[in-house]
Amino acid sequence: MLDKIDHVGIAVQNLNEAVARYTALCGRGPDHLEEVAPQKVKVAMFDVGESRVELLMATAPDSPIAKFIDKRGEGMHHICFKVANLEETLARLQTAEMDIIPGAGGEGAGGSRVAFLHPKSLLGVMVELVEYPRD
Ligand code: ZN
Repeated sequence: MLDKIDHVGIAVQNLNEAVARYTALCGRGPDHLEEVAPQKVKVAMFDVGESRVELLMATAPDSPIAKFIDKRGEGMHHICFKVANLEETLARLQTAEMDIIPGAGGEGAGGSRVAFLHPKSLLGVMVELVEYPRD
């Protein structure tokens, strides 16, 4: 099952400029900055209540974010749902014939594990699923 909306991901061309805009919007700076090498992105996270906004900038021309911006420009890239068990959720979604993007179960920010569902399965919006390590 899906626990909550973990964050909304926004593809940006220039992370410093995007952080400045969201700092102005939120009235304070980002809560977390990280480079996620396996996804070829740098991210800035702004906590907003129980959820977050994730600004994503490509670190390589073949990054999924670079490709997205080439095709569609800057803007909303994905919505992320937190799940308790990524394996179980993916198995259920496979049965539901969702289009899971290859490489599911990869490493995300903060030691999490993530998977992505193709936008064509979900009305034009990419969905990310995240499972956080239990502490
Ligand atoms: Zn994300």
